[in-house]
Amino acid sequence: MKLFLTLFFFLASFSSLYANDMEKAAEKSFSFKQLLKSISDPDIKDISFSLPELPKSNENFVLNGDERYFITVLASTREERTKLMKLGLDIQEIYDTKVSGIAHAKTVTLLSEKGYVILSKMALSEYAQNFLKDFPVNDSAYHNYDEMIQVLQSITAQNRDIASLYSIGKSVEGRDIWTLRINTNAKGDKKSDKPGAVFIGAHHAREHLSVEVPLLHAVWLLENRNKPEIKQYIESLDIYIIPMLNPDGAEYDISTGKYKWHRKNMRKNPDGNIGVDLNRNYDFRWGGAGASHHTYSDTYCGPKAFSEPEAMAAKKFFESRNNLKTYISYHSYAELILYPWGGIYEPVENEKDRKVFMVMAKKMATLTGYRDKQSSDLYAATGDATDWTYGNRGVFSFTIELSPSSGWRGGFYPGTSIIEKTVKDNIAAANYLLSVTDNPYKVIVR
Ligand SMILES: [Zn+2]
Repeated sequence: MKLFLTLFFFLASFSSLYANDMEKAAEKSFSFKQLLKSISDPDIKDISFSLPELPKSNENFVLNGDERYFITVLASTREERTKLMKLGLDIQEIYDTKVSGIAHAKTVTLLSEKGYVILSKMALSEYAQNFLKDFPVNDSAYHNYDEMIQVLQSITAQNRDIASLYSIGKSVEGRDIWTLRINTNAKGDKKSDKPGAVFIGAHHAREHLSVEVPLLHAVWLLENRNKPEIKQYIESLDIYIIPMLNPDGAEYDISTGKYKWHRKNMRKNPDGNIGVDLNRNYDFRWGGAGASHHTYSDTYCGPKAFSEPEAMAAKKFFESRNNLKTYISYHSYAELILYPWGGIYEPVENEKDRKVFMVMAKKMATLTGYRDKQSSDLYAATGDATDWTYGNRGVFSFTIELSPSSGWRGGFYPGTSIIEKTVKDNIAAANYLLSVTDNPYKVIVR
């Protein structure tokens, strides 16, 4: 195990895929079992990682100077929650009469001025102390950008007949957005007529578990390619797995060895505030309900729709492929299976489509133990990825909020013990999605 891990973390930076890299990559093996085992192996803490050194003091220095708070506010309807989102509160947890989430100091002032009842307020630096035990070093089983590339290269090299790896575009800071494609005849960005399924992780930087699920699903699919059911999906479908849409943000979140609770991309806004919320940057009622126009807010929607290269890369990807039928956008946390609309309260107008959404969501909820809902039942949020992919591209699109269910159970940083169950349950849900991708309408045919 240690030898494997040493190899695993003996990392080089790959910016492009040359044949040599591919050959080297082919020599390493990343089996699904090994990857999962490395996650739950306590020895992992003894390995020295390519991560920054721990600070000597226990002080959470990274978030000192961070002007955000974790607050709880009275709000009991989706309309009230939508207004709070619009004012810049990034809602994480919803209860009957209140919500909790992250707000910039300026948002807190704004809420007070508008008469909202703030039940509790804690500096994010203080709140984050609760998560110190789940410090990045202890969480090294999670894959950073380079480690993700290593795994993708390795499994691609070992399955060259059906897998290819290519970049759909670059991030603000110039990182490639890698895409693993599984298709028995079309490689790279070549077109295919086969029905397509798409899995995208990490629109949001701090949601590291949303990288693990699609990445390990890719490993699992290729490893189980000869199982009759999986073989059938692989032969008949065009499958795309994009584990990290926001690589800059994900790297920034762990760049100092202390989590930064970063959500957005790394856009330097003209006023100095960092980041645009990629999941508010799509062009579906962009900038409307539930999206903030304040650059300091975690839900800042950007200066215009598709202003960000990461969202633009996703746009071009979907627009250049008319064969795509299904899509899961992974997020954390809350344990929810969400379907459109997210930006408006009305249900999907097309009755047939609405039924398909409901049946599929229900099934995936059963497989994961999560709850299924129309997205805007929580609050309306415009400019989100899945509204756009369904509304503009007709793709049956779901947002899955992964485990845990609450901040009490670890929130964005639940540690490594949660990975195995979350990955396995969500692979079952993702495989269900594959099973209906040939014709999603078949789920409502009796
Ligand atoms: Zn998210």
